[in-house]
Amino acid sequence: YRRQRQMCIRDSYQLIDGWNKGNIADEMLKWCEKFSDSACVIYENNIITYSKIGELIKKTSVGLLNKGFKPKDKVVLQLPNNINFILCFFGLMKIGAIPIMALPAHRINEIKGMVNTAKATGYICQNRYMGFEYSQIVNELITDDKVKNIIQINDQELIVDNLDIEEKSIFPYIDNLDIAFLSLSGGTTGMSKLIPRTHGDYLYDTEMSVRRCHFQSNDIYLAILPLPHNFILGHPGFLGTFSRGGTLLLSQYPDINEGLELIEKYKATFLSMVPSMAKLMLEMLKEDEYDISSLRVLQIGGAFLEESVAQELIDLKSFTLQQVFGVAEGLNTMTELSDQEEIIRVFQGKPTSPYDEIKIVDENGNFLNNGESGELLIKGPYTIRSYYNNPENEKYFTKDGYYRTGDRAFLSKEGNLKISGRVTELINKSGEKIIPSELESYLNKMEDIRDCAVVGLPDENQGEVIGVFVVADRKIELFEVREYLRKESVASFKLPDYIFMVDTLPLTKIGKVDKKRLVEVGKEGLLNLSLIHISEPTRHLRI
Ligand code: AMP
Repeated sequence: YRRQRQMCIRDSYQLIDGWNKGNIADEMLKWCEKFSDSACVIYENNIITYSKIGELIKKTSVGLLNKGFKPKDKVVLQLPNNINFILCFFGLMKIGAIPIMALPAHRINEIKGMVNTAKATGYICQNRYMGFEYSQIVNELITDDKVKNIIQINDQELIVDNLDIEEKSIFPYIDNLDIAFLSLSGGTTGMSKLIPRTHGDYLYDTEMSVRRCHFQSNDIYLAILPLPHNFILGHPGFLGTFSRGGTLLLSQYPDINEGLELIEKYKATFLSMVPSMAKLMLEMLKEDEYDISSLRVLQIGGAFLEESVAQELIDLKSFTLQQVFGVAEGLNTMTELSDQEEIIRVFQGKPTSPYDEIKIVDENGNFLNNGESGELLIKGPYTIRSYYNNPENEKYFTKDGYYRTGDRAFLSKEGNLKISGRVTELINKSGEKIIPSELESYLNKMEDIRDCAVVGLPDENQGEVIGVFVVADRKIELFEVREYLRKESVASFKLPDYIFMVDTLPLTKIGKVDKKRLVEVGKEGLLNLSLIHISEPTRHLRI
C-alpha cells in the first residue's frame, strides 16, 4: 500500500481536474451542511434531511470512539440497506477507522477470511436479516478472540440509540491518500482479496461517474442492490447522490417488486441494476401496471447484458439506458446518455476519466489492435496497484502497474469497450462473483468426494449458474452438497445449482481439468434434464 501511495503522489493525479483533496467523511459532512433541508435518505417511509443525517453521523462517530474503535482499525461492516449502514460507513471513516465492505449474505468463513487478511479488530452487524441470525457469526468471532470490538444493532433501532455520544476525544486528521475502506474481490478459503480504496481516489472516481451521468440535485437514486457493491457505492451510487444533494431511496431487500413500488411511490429518477434484475423487471412490467415514468436513467452493469434485453429496455421508451462496466479494483466505463441506440445496445461505453489507461493484450502480453479481443489490463488515477496484504500481488498486477482484470474485451474504433467473456475463471451469477477454486477446495474435503470441478453454466435468467462435476464412489445429491457448504458457512449465493456425477474429470493436453469441455457437457446435461425431470438435477454423465 505504501508503494501505491508513493506512486500515486509521483503520478501527480492529485493535480487533475475533479480530484478532491478531502476525505469522504468530511466531504459528506460538508454536503450535509450545504444541502441541509433537502431530503437525504428515504427508508421505510421515513424521510431524513441532510442536516439530520449530518448530526447522526457525528454522533455515531463520537459513539464509536467512546466504544473503543480507533483510527486505522479495520472493521468488518455487515449491514443491509438501511440508515444504520449510512451512519456506520461515514461514522467509521470520520474516526479514521477502515470499514471492510462485507455483504449481508457473507457467512462466518468469509468473515473470518476478511478478519485474517486485514487483521480486523471490529465487527458491526444487525441482529437478523432475511432469516439469518448474525449472533451465529458474533459467537464464533468471540470464540476466536481476534475481533475485540463488536456491535450488533437491533433492526428496529438506530446505532446511536445505544452508544455513549458524549464528546470526549479529538478526531484524527485524515489525508486523501489514506485508505478509506476495503472492498472485496473474492478469495480462497480463509483469505480474502481486499481492495484498498483511498479517500482521494474514490471521491475522484465517483465525481467522474456523476459527471458522466449528469446526476442532479433533484434526482432520486433508488438502491435495490446492496450498498457495499462498488456500483451502488459510487457509480454514481449513494456517494454520488449525496455529492449533488440528491435523495437516496433505500429498498430493504434486493427485490424488484419492492423496487417498482418505491419508484411509483417516491418518483425515483435513477436506478442501477444487474441484467438478471432487468429481465425480471421486464417480465413484471408485462404482467402488472407500474408507473415508472419518473425514471430518467436505468443503469445496467455488473454482468453481461444481452443485446435483445437491452433493446427491450430501450423500447420501453421510459428512460435512458446506460451500460456500465466496472471493477471494484478501479476502472469504470459508462455509455454517454446521449449515445446512439446502437452503441448503448452493444457496448459498455468509455472510461469515465481521461486519465484511465486501457490495454488489450494476448496471452503473451502483446498489445492487440482495436477490434481484437484479449485480456483487459487497466491503470489510472483510481485503479489500485496492489491488493491489501496479499502475497500473490504479482499474479494480479503487471510490472508496469496495470491491473489484470481477467476479463476478455475489445475496443471499438471509437474507443467503446465491449466485454466479451473471461480469460480467467470466475462465475458471474446475477452479478455476484464466485471463484470456482474456492468451492472446489471445500468440496474436495467432503466425505465420499474423490475429485470435483466447479464451472459456470449459461442460464437465461441469472447469466450463469453454478455446476459441480463430481467423481465419487456413490451418488451424491445436490442437496447434500448444498447442506455441506451451508454447514461450512459459505454465502448462500455460492451454493451450487446443479451437480453432475462423472467417472473422471476430462483433462486438457497439458493435464489441467478441461473446463470448456465440462461446460459443454453441462449444457448438454441440462438440456436432457429439462426433458426428463428438472427437480432431480443429479445426473450421471459419461464424458
Ligand atoms: P466487481 O469487482 O465485483 O464489481 O466485479 C467486476 C467484474 O464484473 C468484472 O471483472 C466483470 O467480469 C464483471 N462485469 C462488471 N460489469 C460488467 C458488464 N457491464 N458486462 C460484463 N461483465 C461485467
